[in-house]
Amino acid sequence: MSYRTEEVAYVQPALQPSTAASAQATQQRSTAEYRALDAAHHIHPFSDMGSLNRAGSRVIVKAQGVYLWDSEGNKIIDGMAGLWCVNVGYGRKELADAAYRQMQELPFYNTFFKTTHPPVIELSAMLAELAPEPFNHFFYCNSGSEGNDTVLRIVHQYWATQGKHSKKFVISRKNGYHGSTIAGGTLGGMGYMHDQMPSKVENIVHIDQPYFFGEAQGNLTPEEFALARAQQLEAKILEIGADNVAAFIGEPFQGAGGVIFPASTYWPEIQRICRKYDILLVADEVIGGFGRTGEWFAHQHFGFEPDLITLAKGLTSGYVPMGAVGLHDRVAKAIIEHGDFNHGLTYSGHPVAAAVALANLKLLRDEKIVERVKTDTGPYFQKKLRDTFANHPIVGEIAGAGLVAGLQLAADPKTRKRFANGGDVGTICRDFCFNGNLIMRATGDRMLLSPPLVINKLEIDEIVSKAKYAIDATAQQLGIS
Ligand SMILES: *Cc1c(COP(=O)(O)O)cnc(C)c1O
Repeated sequence: MSYRTEEVAYVQPALQPSTAASAQATQQRSTAEYRALDAAHHIHPFSDMGSLNRAGSRVIVKAQGVYLWDSEGNKIIDGMAGLWCVNVGYGRKELADAAYRQMQELPFYNTFFKTTHPPVIELSAMLAELAPEPFNHFFYCNSGSEGNDTVLRIVHQYWATQGKHSKKFVISRKNGYHGSTIAGGTLGGMGYMHDQMPSKVENIVHIDQPYFFGEAQGNLTPEEFALARAQQLEAKILEIGADNVAAFIGEPFQGAGGVIFPASTYWPEIQRICRKYDILLVADEVIGGFGRTGEWFAHQHFGFEPDLITLAKGLTSGYVPMGAVGLHDRVAKAIIEHGDFNHGLTYSGHPVAAAVALANLKLLRDEKIVERVKTDTGPYFQKKLRDTFANHPIVGEIAGAGLVAGLQLAADPKTRKRFANGGDVGTICRDFCFNGNLIMRATGDRMLLSPPLVINKLEIDEIVSKAKYAIDATAQQLGIS
């Protein structure tokens, strides 16, 4: 399963005159000019640039709330919150004001040489307030990938402080996603990324993912399957030797891998095994953090206690780049008490990013956005999806909680039979979504939704009905009804 399949461009829908004016307000060039310049000078992430340049990209020119506008004036509902990040929705003046004020006051200063500044202090105190009790210390970077690089540095420093120098291996999962630096890409379990990385980070190994629909054999229940997949961790630790294993890392639910939600038996067993063999447990909360499941952090949804949490995306709602790692008190203590920690980035704790993050977290807290996801819009979204697709001929599973969901497309939902050409089916469906002005992502044969957390019920209805239209059209094109 590749990101690539979802980045193929599509035919841009015709101009809708009613919304064209609003888009043109900020637009300097025609769509054709934008596309020509983009093709001439811009290499896109995870893309086949040859075919993208031939087809042309969609040019997004503005956004408000849960809607985007393209350069042709089309109004598009964003079922993906940008790239899983715009949790407070687009166009929040509070975040723009925070950035503007901070840029005038102190646009940059570093946090290296015995210095600090108010935004990073306020943000750290705020994160300590919002995160579960044992998380009181935070290290900053600029992205989720750098967050996971930082995780590795902290993990190794931690074991060095404990005198356990042989604990070097980190165990991760196939089809996990942890970013695209060399360390992030190695930790992730995306084979198509590994193939392009002849040199990887050493001492990282993978176990199988808890993907029930796609990988469970025989008559196992989802709970039995999840337990068996968790126990692969124990087998791997015994194979490598517990004295050689430093950490296990996983996303509480896999995001980019297809919104895969493990059964309730999974994480408690992972935690039990990590404790038993004295291995740090890392939750990559880059997507799950900041309200996505209706809890502030996804590990709270699954009921486990990690030693480190990776944060990014929703930390600033994507308005500016920022990542962070939260350290459990026992890890923080070891790092703090044992001399130099030789890691840092020029922009660690960048004042503008910190000011925006702070403003973002205040909105999430003060407007009770996370609570609303938990008690109101999240349950509404999940029920609406389940009511709409429960007996759909090509929908095999609806996974998710809060405002994140994965819809499994399947040839026979009852027997969990997948399409032989699942990736193509996902692409067909994704193209119907695009043409219907809905952003819904396809990862192979799973369709993913993760809208801004400020979405209201009317907008949820619009997403679900547009998704229904696209999935119905896909079934029809495949000759299934
Ligand atoms: C997006 C993502 C990352 C990488 O974050 P970047 O900001 O793209 O570097 C890491 N982990 C998870 C779970 C992600 O979804």
